[in-house]
Amino acid sequence: MSTIHSAAGGRKKLVAGNWKMFTTPQSAAELARAVAHGVAGTAGRGGVLVCPPFPFLGLVAAALERSPVALGAQNCFHELEGAFTGEVSPRMLRDMGCDYVILGHSERRHKLGETDELISRKVRCAVEVGLRVILCFGETLPEREANKTEQVLDRQFSGSLAGLPPDKVPQLVFAYEPVWAIGTGRHATPEQAEQAHAFLRRRAAAAFGDVAARALTILYGGSVNPGNAASLFAEPEVDGGLIGGASLKANDFLDIVKAALPTSTP
Ligand code: PEP
Repeated sequence: MSTIHSAAGGRKKLVAGNWKMFTTPQSAAELARAVAHGVAGTAGRGGVLVCPPFPFLGLVAAALERSPVALGAQNCFHELEGAFTGEVSPRMLRDMGCDYVILGHSERRHKLGETDELISRKVRCAVEVGLRVILCFGETLPEREANKTEQVLDRQFSGSLAGLPPDKVPQLVFAYEPVWAIGTGRHATPEQAEQAHAFLRRRAAAAFGDVAARALTILYGGSVNPGNAASLFAEPEVDGGLIGGASLKANDFLDIVKAALPTSTP
């Protein structure tokens, strides 16, 4: 994966598109081609990836060939193979060309009942085959209003990363995604994002040491759009974004990518 712009601490900016359960074979291929075309001029300077639905991984991988855009998946199972009807192994994702997998997304935690314990098993299995894991954290609105944001992030951190071998920490990317901001049009203020990211980095330093924590990329996710991306990405602890709705429109996604690269001159 190439890199565009160094964030604080020498970290690389990263912009990931989460296509969720949207697109058709045709629109997925078109979107992938448009993103690949749009970032071609920034090759070598940035980290951009798209995460299409499972059935479209192959055709999106083909559309991204020879482009600097990486491929990710939105979920995986916690075993490498076996009699698990309907599940998808992280090894299969590697075989399809994925470098990344999103785990612990709030839609899976809250709509599909995934627990921290289950997520921790998925994380360990995914890193075992060399995937980079975009691990999502975030509080609900009642939790924020009850001043419990840090308590929730702390609990998700301990639970989702339980048993992770220390040598796999460099394969982690964090995404702070307040649940109240996802798909709602309501985004965290840059200050709220900065505070939550700083907390996660302190938590990572306590668990993995200062050097590993400083190297950790922490994305913000939750209603990022071309109008608010620059102010969010300007925060020193915000190393890029995990983009849902706006990643489905090539122009919007590419504008967000540009906002992550303030010094770029494509
Ligand atoms: C997401 O799905 O991770 C997300 C942040 O969605 P949206 O940008 O639509 O809020």
